Amino acid sequence: MNNKRIAVVGAGPGGLAAAMMLSSWGYHVDVFEKHGVVGGRASNFSIDDYRFERGPTFLSMPFILEELFASSGRVFSDYVQLERVDPMYDLIFPNLTFQPSSDPTLTRKRIAEAFPGEEIGYDRFMKETGKKWERLLPVLQTEHRQLRDYVSKRAIKALPNLSIGRSLYDELSRFFKDERLKLSFTFQSKYLGMSPWKCPGAFSILSYMEHRYGVYYPIGGFQSIANAMKTIIEENGGNVFTHTEVSKVMTKNKKAIGISLSSGEAFHYDQVIVNADFGHAITELFEEEDLNRWTPRKLKNKQLSCSSFMLYLGVKKTFNANHHNIYFANDYKKNVEEISEKLVLSKDPSFYVHHPSVSDSSVDKNGQSSLYVLAPVPNNRSQIDWSKEKNAYSNHLIEKMQQKTNFTFSESDIDVLSIYTPKDWEQEMNVYEGATFNLGHQLSQMMYFRPHNRFQDVDNCWLVGGGTHPGSGLPTIYESARITAKAIEKTYGRLRDSI
Ligand SMILES: Cc1cc2nc3c(=O)[nH]c(=O)nc-3n(C[C@H](O)[C@H](O)[C@H](O)COP(=O)(O)OP(=O)(O)OC[C@H]3O[C@@H](n4cnc5c(N)ncnc54)[C@H](O)[C@@H]3O)c2cc1C
Repeated sequence: MNNKRIAVVGAGPGGLAAAMMLSSWGYHVDVFEKHGVVGGRASNFSIDDYRFERGPTFLSMPFILEELFASSGRVFSDYVQLERVDPMYDLIFPNLTFQPSSDPTLTRKRIAEAFPGEEIGYDRFMKETGKKWERLLPVLQTEHRQLRDYVSKRAIKALPNLSIGRSLYDELSRFFKDERLKLSFTFQSKYLGMSPWKCPGAFSILSYMEHRYGVYYPIGGFQSIANAMKTIIEENGGNVFTHTEVSKVMTKNKKAIGISLSSGEAFHYDQVIVNADFGHAITELFEEEDLNRWTPRKLKNKQLSCSSFMLYLGVKKTFNANHHNIYFANDYKKNVEEISEKLVLSKDPSFYVHHPSVSDSSVDKNGQSSLYVLAPVPNNRSQIDWSKEKNAYSNHLIEKMQQKTNFTFSESDIDVLSIYTPKDWEQEMNVYEGATFNLGHQLSQMMYFRPHNRFQDVDNCWLVGGGTHPGSGLPTIYESARITAKAIEKTYGRLRDSI
């Protein structure tokens, strides 16, 4: 073990992954987590016999996790068992259900059957976006510190692949004619909390990633990944303190020197990594005089993602349905505009139903179903009063489920109903303005223009998670941890370029 001590604020996927790697490389690492469980937005919770994911349910590109575990001297599959989900998801439009498979050959066949002729567009999409992916991946895996990084050969090659000036929807319109197919390959912008009509065309790599690598679910839920990382940190001699809220990152001469806790205790460290939501960190964890590039006032002018209205439903019934079920509003564009521009609640919402027992027999043993329903809604800049709206919106969604889905049940079938609103994300999970997918992913807020992994305003302070580069979503969040961990190693003169 070396003599450097690192504090990590928050045990979300980003914080745990960075702590796992750094503790495996010989640092003493202490993780401080406000909640009683680790995993942050990617954790599980149970009510009675029902088990729910708090947030993420799709895992893509598991090889990134395998690489992170390998760099920590571990084998991922010794800790977590993944189930490949097939079909990847049911995309349910008013007059058609499309089931893309984790096997691209089968997806092509289904496209040819449901949208004759469009399979040629699929071939072209996979080929062209594959090339784009190869060019962009190194850019996503690299730290962006200076604008002059963009004159490197690799960056210049990647720039045309950003599809600058073209929205995701426009980009997919190059490959498909049918509106439903365009939406089937653009709805993934919702993972970033953005509209396909506003999201940069570069993000066609999101649907490509799924079609190339498939979609996975960890047996035992996403908690199993967080628990595995916690175990490794502890095996390495680190600590994960739960129920321990950090109140400030302590600084001296604009350098982080440790953290203080809400309990009043304070501890010194050589480096501090912040995994708490970026907006929360800027508004709560730093003294304003330490901030310059990123201040609470400047944050007000930044674009944020949308939020998520959640119903966690324990129902005394089983259902004949697949794992991931996405129901599109009759007028999807209107729904998206209501969420991201008009900032009002949609009468005709799109929503997603999570039905994990299809892939994981450890959930729902007794003829019951742990369902979660997610409806994208405006973030808290909308000023929606959730204390007034939450029950009515919950009823509205349950009504829509009865009208549009196979998940039909009566009121007496409901054992558990727990509602989580954008206000809850903000107050309980410390998510700035309840924007569950962080800062928006407009090009003006990406790469060099996103908060850097090496926090620009305070030395010896680092960021990991969805608010920093490369962005929100588990694969990119794990990448943020890898970038930060490698950069910390570099500051101590050690290079880990091969990881
Ligand atoms: C509803 C929803 C669905 C999603 N679905 C997917 C999906 O299917 N696939 C996917 O790839 N991504 C998905 N995401 C996006 C993203 O992957 C997750 O949100 C992810 O958990 C974010 O990880 P993070 O490391 O940024 O931090 P978080 O998960 O937010 O973790 C931060 C941690 O810091 C703690 N914390 C905050 N403040 C303090 C403090 N002051 N002191 C101590 N601890 C503190 C919090 O309690 C939390 O545990 C989803 C997100 C949401 C909200």
